[in-house]
Amino acid sequence: MIFFDIDTQIDFMKAEGALYVPEAETIHGRIASLLAAAGEAGVTTISTRCAHEPGDPEFDLFPPHCLEGTPGAERLFAELPGLPRCEVAVSAIAEPGTSLQEATHYVVKKKVFDLFANEWLDGLRRDGYFQEKECIVFGVATDYCVRACVLGLVEAGARVRVVGDAICGVSPTTTSETLAVWQKAGVEMTTTAEILRGIEEATR
Ligand SMILES: [Zn+2]
Repeated sequence: MIFFDIDTQIDFMKAEGALYVPEAETIHGRIASLLAAAGEAGVTTISTRCAHEPGDPEFDLFPPHCLEGTPGAERLFAELPGLPRCEVAVSAIAEPGTSLQEATHYVVKKKVFDLFANEWLDGLRRDGYFQEKECIVFGVATDYCVRACVLGLVEAGARVRVVGDAICGVSPTTTSETLAVWQKAGVEMTTTAEILRGIEEATR
């Protein structure tokens, strides 16, 4: 099982953030529970994070956000999941045959909302690493980064489950359209409670 913790950075997650996702604070508690459980049970977790510089092309689409070195770019729960951490740079590359370590926290930087723009992550995907893997996805924003993550993993043949009460979208219209696209793609929706129960049962 791999957790995908998408862009849970202060600029998206807090009302004073530069690109606040409306109502994102309603999922803070569930994000923290999922990450804490990953730490306790040793679930390998991939946290993606925007790491921008002034003038990045993405700022033609979205207001400037997550500028490297500013507090807004920090992950909201910076200390979680508390597993050995591996930072993956924007320009990192995955050699064929690369695999993820067990019980490790990968923090993957990106400059585009699609996380598979990161060559390291895309390399793993193209290499078939995620095929048949159970991938649990949560974070923000449902209609942009989470959407790209889910569809990218489906394309890679992963068994994707989205934690429906631990995601948050920018606009109601594009969010419901995204949910419809996922349903069509056979994506399973789950809840925080269900994931936590599963972890507890597996580790008992
Ligand atoms: Zn960004």
